[in-house]
This record gives sequence, structure tokens and C-alpha cells, in this order.
Amino acid sequence: MTYQFSGPCPVCGGFEFTENAVLWDDLIDKWQLAVDEIRYINRQQGFHCKQCHNNLRTMGLSAAILREYSYYGTLKQFCESSSIDLRILEINTAGNLTKFLMKLHGHKLVEYPEFDMMNLDIESDSYDLVIHSDTLEHVPMSDRGLSECLRVLRRDGKCIFTVPIIVDRMTRSRVGLAPSYHGQSGVPANDQLVYCEFGADFWKSVLNAGFISCEIYRFEYPSALVIIAKK
Ligand SMILES: [Zn+2]
Repeated sequence: MTYQFSGPCPVCGGFEFTENAVLWDDLIDKWQLAVDEIRYINRQQGFHCKQCHNNLRTMGLSAAILREYSYYGTLKQFCESSSIDLRILEINTAGNLTKFLMKLHGHKLVEYPEFDMMNLDIESDSYDLVIHSDTLEHVPMSDRGLSECLRVLRRDGKCIFTVPIIVDRMTRSRVGLAPSYHGQSGVPANDQLVYCEFGADFWKSVLNAGFISCEIYRFEYPSALVIIAKK
């Protein structure tokens, strides 16, 4: 039986949600999405908490982090707790999570283009947790981006992240195909250009990058999957 998330919000504890369609015709066309795939990607990106405005994917990311650190509360409480002593690197703003994460004194946010995920100007072995959300598909060499995450992690560190995954197909590179952009309809921005469309074999990128394991956390299947990669 398919589990459908109905609350409360793992970020703020909110109980009210709303949903809007975020995909547009040109993106659907280039991504070649089937009807069911349109439905679950719209839910992943457009279903959100009315209180903190995090969508299903960043709610899922939060739930995965809380589970990984055995914390029984919201992400907001986790970030405000004095008992949490973690060095967290956030690569590009992860939805609306940044305002919560920045309350952790070990938190650092780095953003493109000042920081290039394929060549992070960050010391090796310096973070306990690296997070990113729907960033990897915009990096020209995604395996290289992940290997940089691995490099900056301490021993036993974790990289917890999301990418849009179309579960019934294989990963494909968009190199040589017509440019496809995420973000907003009719607003092509270079940092939103898609280099890779991830599919069921996304785990190969994680292991290729050098991580010793790749776990899938199901917040909601197949609309909100979170990847937990361990060093
Ligand atoms: Zn919320």
C-alpha cells in the first residue's frame, strides 16, 4: 500500500498544507514525463506547508536528517537545541530550510557561483553533514560534485540530499539535447540548466563518487525520496 504523507510538517510542526502545480508544458515535454510522473513531480515540488512553506522534498530532507540523528522533534527544535553539536555544510539554499539551519552554530551555507560544487574551496574532513536539495542535476559533472561532498566530510560523515528521481527509467545526461531549465516557466537561468535527469540507477553516482553506502529514505513514494550517502 502506498503511504501518503498527511502531516504534521517535520520542519515546523504545522498541520495545514496546500498544493499547486509547478511543472509547465515545455519542461514536461523536454523531460518526457508520463502522466503519473507529472503528478508525482508536481506533488514533490508543489505540495507545501502553509506555515513554513517547505515543500514535500525539503520536508522529506528534514525528516531524513531527524531520523539519521535519532531526534524526535521538528527540524526547528533540532536547530534550536543546545545539545546538537554538528558541523553542517549546506550547498545552495535547501528550499526554506536555511532560516532554521542557520540557528545551528556549526552551520555554513555556500552558494553558486561563489562556490563551485565541483571544486569546493573548503578544507577536507571538516564537516559532519553535507546537505543539498535539487542541486546535483544542475552540476555539469554530478559525480565530481558528490566526490567533493565526500572530501569535505569527516570520517563517518553523511551527505543527505535530494534530486528529482524518475523511478521507472535510467539516468540520462542532457548533454547534446535541447537545453532544459528548472525554476520558472519562461525564465531560463544558467544555474537552472539541467545537465542530468536522474533515474533508478542514481545510486551509481553516489558509489562512483567514493561513498561506502547509499540509502534511500522514503518520505513519500515515489514523490519524496531522500538519499543518505555515508563516508
Ligand atoms: Zn512547516
